[in-house]
Amino acid sequence: MKSICTFALTLSMLSPALAAGDDLLISRAGTRAVNDAPARNFTGQVKVEMLHTPAGPERASAGTVTFSPGARTAWHTHPLGQTLVVTAGTGRVQRWGGPVEDIRAGDVVHIPAGVKHWHGAGPGGTMSHVAITEALDGKTVDWLEQVTDTQYGSAKTPETPQAAQPSRAQRLMGDVAPKLAQLTDDVLFGDVWTRPGLPPRDRSLVTVSALIAMNRPDQLRSHMALARDNGVTRDELVETITHLAFYSGWPNAVTAIGVARDVFASKP
Ligand code: MN
Repeated sequence: MKSICTFALTLSMLSPALAAGDDLLISRAGTRAVNDAPARNFTGQVKVEMLHTPAGPERASAGTVTFSPGARTAWHTHPLGQTLVVTAGTGRVQRWGGPVEDIRAGDVVHIPAGVKHWHGAGPGGTMSHVAITEALDGKTVDWLEQVTDTQYGSAKTPETPQAAQPSRAQRLMGDVAPKLAQLTDDVLFGDVWTRPGLPPRDRSLVTVSALIAMNRPDQLRSHMALARDNGVTRDELVETITHLAFYSGWPNAVTAIGVARDVFASKP
């Protein structure tokens, strides 16, 4: 008994007193401001949610940047470099004089100090990344000229601009129901899917869940592929199907597994 008391006393003596200003700072999900990125330094619709702004001697800032399809930064450099963690969708990054590189959810890009570059979404979907940037003398970025459509589009399809290609909705139903195709493109994918209230990854998860529960294998097929592009893993999709077997019915889950097998064949 004595030894237990001594142990407890020793522990309490070792614990440092909590000093004022040492409190952990927890910024809760959904409480941070989401602002439009300034048009002079970006092309297209870009939303910025600051995750951490350095105070005192700190130098590293972190923010989530969400690019609408085709949106991108201007050319720029960072005095101490930058790390980009792609959290959803597929996008593009390029250093001056280098090739345009595809990036997707889970990829991490490090840009060395002083290297001229741009980053943004691909032409067919949104892309979100967390940008971690250290400041030198209070400055994190030097902005340069805008990325032209030619520079942006020169990536993969120099002779057939993406805008000339019919969208998936236009191919699927544009001949029979052009208004529905336009609403699908402009309202559903152009507005709702890009709203900052939910990241694309989470929108994919709820959409896939609804399609599994309603037993809609045709729509589920394309949305499972989109979910993979938005960063939902294969294991997470399988777990979702298993979970929903209990809530939406065994046959729905079995149907979904058949769809998942096909999707995983092209997107493992
Ligand atoms: Mn950058």
